Amino acid sequence: MKFIVLGSGGCVALPKPLCNCKVCKEARKKGNPYSRFGCSLFLEDLNLLVDTPEDIVHALNYANIQQVNFVLFSHMDPDHTLGMRIFEHMRLNWFEISEGKECTNPISVFAMEHVMSDMNSIGSKLGSYLDYYENSRNIIKRKVVSKFIYLDDIKLTFIKADSATVFVFEQKKNKVIYAPCDVKPFPDNDIFKDANVLIIGSTIVGKVLKDNYILKENNILNDELFNMIEIEQLKDKYRIQEVIITHLEEDWGKSYDDYLELQKQYKDIIFAYDGMTFEV
Ligand SMILES: [Zn+2]
Ligand SMILES: [Zn+2]
Repeated sequence: MKFIVLGSGGCVALPKPLCNCKVCKEARKKGNPYSRFGCSLFLEDLNLLVDTPEDIVHALNYANIQQVNFVLFSHMDPDHTLGMRIFEHMRLNWFEISEGKECTNPISVFAMEHVMSDMNSIGSKLGSYLDYYENSRNIIKRKVVSKFIYLDDIKLTFIKADSATVFVFEQKKNKVIYAPCDVKPFPDNDIFKDANVLIIGSTIVGKVLKDNYILKENNILNDELFNMIEIEQLKDKYRIQEVIITHLEEDWGKSYDDYLELQKQYKDIIFAYDGMTFEV
């Protein structure tokens, strides 16, 4: 399986609009890999995309993706979903619509029941956007997944993590876990054992953050996000070969070079960047 991190950024873009911190200035000047799109992942074998942040249209162009047949939604938070108009960019053809022709290859959209019902609530006074894409435009086809699905020879398991989802991709003996956001506490499940790679967000990187902000122990962010020690514990608990940290927030105050330096401290834990690929 070959994966591409299309976007490694967090809740806000990097460079963050209006921000003149060192990290944003450098990202604005140098671009990739100093800049970061919103958090998303692509599996090349299946032309499968996980999540649609607002800038996904640019992330797909940047990575020169040629086809998307499947989209998974991890949860409904805006930083993962508000680029859903990408369905129109990818499949809507107004000339064909004007002649009454329907889209013949709708994109399959998968999510767990709790996520799909959240997703269906996103819309306007005219109704749900996903209803519009499926029922009026026929450019998507939704499917609720309760446990797992097979796509070709890849088994894709969905595991509930509160309001979000952890995905496990398995092909033969290879296993990749994708847990982009809102996954603390991490669900307890034997399926995670001996994975080749865990790509995980929900992590505060470092003690001294942007503008020398020091995170105190009683800060509520510690309840919602892992620290690096907890990531190492998770890695050891499930004997995971390699961890890639994604969803890297501008708030962490670190540049691409800082992450390269930092990852030298850790064994088999690295930091994502846009366009990073890995194969298992
Ligand atoms: Zn900044
Ligand atoms: Zn997020």
